[in-house]
Amino acid sequence: MMSHSHSNIEQSILKAEAICQSAGVKLTAKRKNVLIILLHSEVPLSAYDLAEEYRGHFKESLPAMSVYRMLDFLTQENLAHKLTSTNKYIGCSHITCDHQHEIPQFLICDKCQNVSEIGVKKDIIKALNQSVKRVNFSLSSQQLELHGMCEACQSIKNKKQAKKN
Ligand SMILES: [Zn+2]
Ligand SMILES: [Zn+2]
Ligand SMILES: [Zn+2]
Repeated sequence: MMSHSHSNIEQSILKAEAICQSAGVKLTAKRKNVLIILLHSEVPLSAYDLAEEYRGHFKESLPAMSVYRMLDFLTQENLAHKLTSTNKYIGCSHITCDHQHEIPQFLICDKCQNVSEIGVKKDIIKALNQSVKRVNFSLSSQQLELHGMCEACQSIKNKKQAKKN
């Protein structure tokens, strides 16, 4: 995954403010700081990691409850996402995009923890929903989380193998 550059983060924050304004909700200073931390991070963060980072960056400690509330807010507005398979959070990588936020599909590298966020095509989701409906299953989330190895980690692995030979 490409890491976010600083200008991207600034743009994302500006866009996040606009998104919240048009949704009639407020991106308070603390919520914004939490989002900044998530966007800066190369890897998904647990609520605990986030509280630690917050204390380090902003010299203020947040009660766990308020960390969770802020994360709930950010995920509700699609500015951040919760990876249920790892119980960690990441900033949305499509904040500055103009397209509608689709149901996210996450490619999670189990080696370096990097996460790529991809939108799933509508007809794939539709087909998925149909097969789920066929067995009368009720989905609580449509988010897809796929685990594997990212491109960078694969090439490291390949190089190591080449050395061995
Ligand atoms: Zn997203
Ligand atoms: Zn996008
Ligand atoms: Zn990786």
